[in-house]
Amino acid sequence: MKKHNFFAGPAILAEEVKQEAAKAALEYQGIGLSLMEISHRSPEFTAIIDEARDLVKELLEVPEGYQVLFLQGGASLQFYMTALNLLDSSKTAAYVDTGSWSSKAIKEAKRCGNVEVVASSKDKNYNYIPKDIAVPANAQYVHITTNNTIFGTQFQSIPDFDQPIVADMSSDIFSRPIDVSKYDIIYAGAQKNLGPAGCTLVIVKEGALGKVSRELPSMLDYSIQIKSGSLFNTGPVFPIYVCLLTLRWLKQQGGIAGTQVRNELKAMALYEEIDRNPLFVGTAAKEDRSRMNICFLLNDPSMSDAFLADCAAAGIVGIKGHRSVGGFRASTYNAMDKSSVDVLIQVMQDFEKKNM
Ligand SMILES: *Cc1c(COP(=O)(O)O)cnc(C)c1O
Repeated sequence: MKKHNFFAGPAILAEEVKQEAAKAALEYQGIGLSLMEISHRSPEFTAIIDEARDLVKELLEVPEGYQVLFLQGGASLQFYMTALNLLDSSKTAAYVDTGSWSSKAIKEAKRCGNVEVVASSKDKNYNYIPKDIAVPANAQYVHITTNNTIFGTQFQSIPDFDQPIVADMSSDIFSRPIDVSKYDIIYAGAQKNLGPAGCTLVIVKEGALGKVSRELPSMLDYSIQIKSGSLFNTGPVFPIYVCLLTLRWLKQQGGIAGTQVRNELKAMALYEEIDRNPLFVGTAAKEDRSRMNICFLLNDPSMSDAFLADCAAAGIVGIKGHRSVGGFRASTYNAMDKSSVDVLIQVMQDFEKKNM
C-alpha cells in the first residue's frame, strides 16, 4: 500500500531520488564500489559536492560574495556556530522568538554575546508571527526562523531590517524564492526539504566573517570550512549525494518557482478543508499559516484516535501533532505530491460524513 509521508523530519524524499540513492548505495556509477566506501577526496565525490554547491547557487540565485557549505551537526549546531562567528562577547544581536527552535537558537547565542529578544509570539503559544519588529541600531544581526516547523507559522514575506539577517530555514529552504543578499547566514538541516539527516546546508556571506575577536575552534570556523571546501574533516558523503539528487530533482521540477506553485496548491487545498470541515480547526493565525507544516485540531479531541486510525487505514503516516501543540500536523514539504494531500482531504471528508 502506498504510504503518504507527512512526517515533519526526517521527511519525505522524491521517489526518483530514493531510486538513484539506492543504486549508489550498492555501486556508484560502475566503479565497483558503493558510494559509502569511497574517499571524500575522490574525484567521484569531488564532482558530487561541486555540482551540489553549484546547484544551490543556481536555484537560490546566490550572489557573488557568498559561499555554500555542507556541514555536520544539524541546524542545532548552527544556533551556536552562527553566533560564535558573528557576535563578539561585548556586542548585541537581535533575535525573534517564534517557537521552540528560535528559543534554542537564543539559548546558544547567549553563550557568545548579548542577545536581545526583539519580538516573541510566546504569549499565544507561538501561533502567529510578530509584526512591526523594531531592532536596536547596535544589533549586529537579526536572527529569524523563517518557518516554524512545530507551530505551523511562517514569515510570508521577510521584513526589511537595517541589519543583515541570520536565518534558520531548516523547514522551508527551496520552498520559495529568497533574496540571499538580505542575509549574512542562511542555514538549514537537510532532513526536511533537502536530503537525509546528517548534513546541514549553510550559505554564508564572506564579508561578514573575520570580525569577532575570539579564537574559533577549527571545525566551528566558517572561514576554515570555506577554505577546505566543506571538507576540513570527512564529510557526510552519502547524505551530500542525496542532497545533490534532490537539487537535480528540484531543478527538473521547474526550480524554486515551480516548487513554490506546487507548495501553494497543496497548502491552500488543505487549509480550505480545515476551514470548511466543521470537525476541524487550524491552530495558526490565518495570515501567518505555514505552507510546509499545517497544524490543526479536532474540535472534539476525544475523536483523535478514531481520526488517526482512519488516516492509518488510508496509508497516511506522520500526521500526529507535536506534543506542544497537540492535534495534527501535516508536513507538506517540497517532495510531497499533491495527490497525498488529496488523500488526507478525502479522509477528513469521510470522517465528517461518519461523525456528523
Ligand atoms: C528540525 C529543525 C531544527 C533542528 O534541526 P537539527 O538538524 O535536528 O539540529 C532547527 N530549526 C528548525 C526550524 C527545524 O525545523
